[in-house]
Amino acid sequence: MLLIHCPYCEEARPELEFRHAGEAHIARPAGIAEISDEAFEAYFFIRDNTKGIVFERWRHIHGCGRFFNAARHSVSDRFVVTYRAGEPKPELSGEQVAAAAPGGKATPANAAAGVNGKAAR
Ligand SMILES: [Zn+2]
Repeated sequence: MLLIHCPYCEEARPELEFRHAGEAHIARPAGIAEISDEAFEAYFFIRDNTKGIVFERWRHIHGCGRFFNAARHSVSDRFVVTYRAGEPKPELSGEQVAAAAPGGKATPANAAAGVNGKAAR
């Protein structure tokens, strides 16, 4: 089972307690009523769909109920780091990214920062 670290509860909990909530760090444009249709489309519908590290919003829906952000590798499904909503997008080291890639191993350094991979089934 996949374990996800909640930055508010400060513990790793089973994925069944969480709900994905889309891409993180999407900024609402100022004066949204006046922006062009193309700009509104880009804000409202267009997402990156990256193969690799993605920054996402998650909600601990069956726990504290709070939203937080996470960096996750979209192929391996490993979380690199989770952080509280409103905090800036973290800089990830090459080591963290490599550890999250398919075949990579979580290291003690990024495990302490909230990394989790697939635990024993
Ligand atoms: Zn929580």
